[in-house]
Amino acid sequence: MSDTSVRIDLPANRLERQIPDLKPPLSEASALAEANRCLYCYDAPCIQACPTAINIPEFIKRIATGNTKGAAKTILESNILGHSCARVCPVEVLCAGACVYNDKEEPPIMIGRLQRYATQYAYDRNLQFFKKGAPTGRKIALVGGGPASVAAAHELTRLGHACTVLEGRATPGGLNTTGVAPYKLHAEDSLEEIAYVQQIGFEIKTNTWVGKDVAIESLLADYDAVFLGIGLGADSRLGIPGEDTPGCTGAVAWIERMKNEPSYKLEGVTHAVVVGGGNTAIDVARELLHLGVPCVSMAYRRDEKDMSGYVHELAAAKKEGVRLEFRLQPKAVVGGDRVTGMTFQVVKPGEGGKLVPVEGAEVTLPAELVVVATGQEKLEAFVKAIPGVGFEKGRVVADKRTGATGHPKVFAGGDCANGAKEVVNAAAEGKVAALGIDAYFQTLSQPQEISVIIK
Ligand SMILES: Cc1cc2nc3c(=O)[nH]c(=O)nc-3n(C[C@H](O)[C@H](O)[C@H](O)COP(=O)(O)OP(=O)(O)OC[C@H]3O[C@@H](n4cnc5c(N)ncnc54)[C@H](O)[C@@H]3O)c2cc1C
Ligand code: SF4
Repeated sequence: MSDTSVRIDLPANRLERQIPDLKPPLSEASALAEANRCLYCYDAPCIQACPTAINIPEFIKRIATGNTKGAAKTILESNILGHSCARVCPVEVLCAGACVYNDKEEPPIMIGRLQRYATQYAYDRNLQFFKKGAPTGRKIALVGGGPASVAAAHELTRLGHACTVLEGRATPGGLNTTGVAPYKLHAEDSLEEIAYVQQIGFEIKTNTWVGKDVAIESLLADYDAVFLGIGLGADSRLGIPGEDTPGCTGAVAWIERMKNEPSYKLEGVTHAVVVGGGNTAIDVARELLHLGVPCVSMAYRRDEKDMSGYVHELAAAKKEGVRLEFRLQPKAVVGGDRVTGMTFQVVKPGEGGKLVPVEGAEVTLPAELVVVATGQEKLEAFVKAIPGVGFEKGRVVADKRTGATGHPKVFAGGDCANGAKEVVNAAAEGKVAALGIDAYFQTLSQPQEISVIIK
């Protein structure tokens, strides 16, 4: 059954609620002091580093001069998901990483926290800055209810097009609701953002899987354009013995339960092993520690320098007490009715960087919970079933300037097209695709060229 209203009344007894916000909101005094540190650089490098090109010096100046409402408008004009981005963006490698204060060896401006201060001001007062455009008669179906589709739907609605977002899960928001670490954003905050953004007037149908509850062919027939914002698929599997033992799970599935499922508990887990070296592995390890698991190990095949997770996130994980185990290749999950541990083959780098086993060297780490964070599958079969839409290197082939695919009516953006980046990239690409769809409609509206042959 589909549902068109956003549910923000998630039950309170979810595990994620035990994890507090690691960067709480700034007080007014702190926000003003921080805003007044900004040097308002000409040609500001922070703007270049933000995928949605928010005019950062402008919004900070507005905070500094007491115009917090104006600051929120500046942010949301460029990035309608500026509220969640303020909390989830890896600012260390984006805007704040480009701040000129870094060169002076002084702390960069807390751009994310100032952004949160301004957007929270607008949310608390439900200040709405954008209006639905005059109706054009065009209809767009947006597949997936994550950041890419929601940003696209907002922009298209501003342009007067009627949008329907189709989300398979019970709640919209994509990974902002189901995947992002609770110490950055809780699920209810993601749903609050969607409800705020949706007020412009687009529809969200939840519990509606395209390909199961509604056919993509019918969307192509019934709508003027279709946007694919489907993200990525289920967790990748290791393909080793014992992987289906209760207590062994994929990382994204585990995070979703921990964030969204009221009955889920971590009873009896004193040792946990997280397999992987990326940001998701680091998130899970930190979440487990925050939830009180005394011993959390991250097991990775290679060395620390090879890990794909952000350096600042790994540093935080180490500081909090995550144990790092290197050069361990998963061999088997151990246990009968429940997981009791995980066995690894010890490896070392061989010729051409290829890993080779160290003969006779195996390690078994005790664990009542094993979480596999080695990536997500790609929704290749779904995409390839759409005529004309290309799929290469695990991504939907889409024009970066317009989101256009090989099917004239189909556009794409977000993780499914960029291969997995950040929420801010999905928001940027959703907006780009919205403008691409609008430009496509303009080409349809133009009168056909009439050639007059004079005899
Ligand atoms: C564990 C984890 C933690 C992360 N943490 C951060 C972070 O801290 N900061 C950050 O910026 N980024 C983070 N990211 C990345 C970020 O969440 C993604 O880049 C972003 O959510 C991508 O948005 P999207 O809309 O493309 O896809 P998604 O957010 O994945 O949304 C896609 C939606 O489409 C739905 N869907 C899929 N197929 C169908 C279908 N056939 N029919 C209907 N609905 C469908 C899905 O249910 C899902 O809700 C994280 C990612 C993961 C996995
Ligand atoms: S959206 Fe993200 S990257 Fe852009 S300015 Fe805000 S916090 Fe920085």
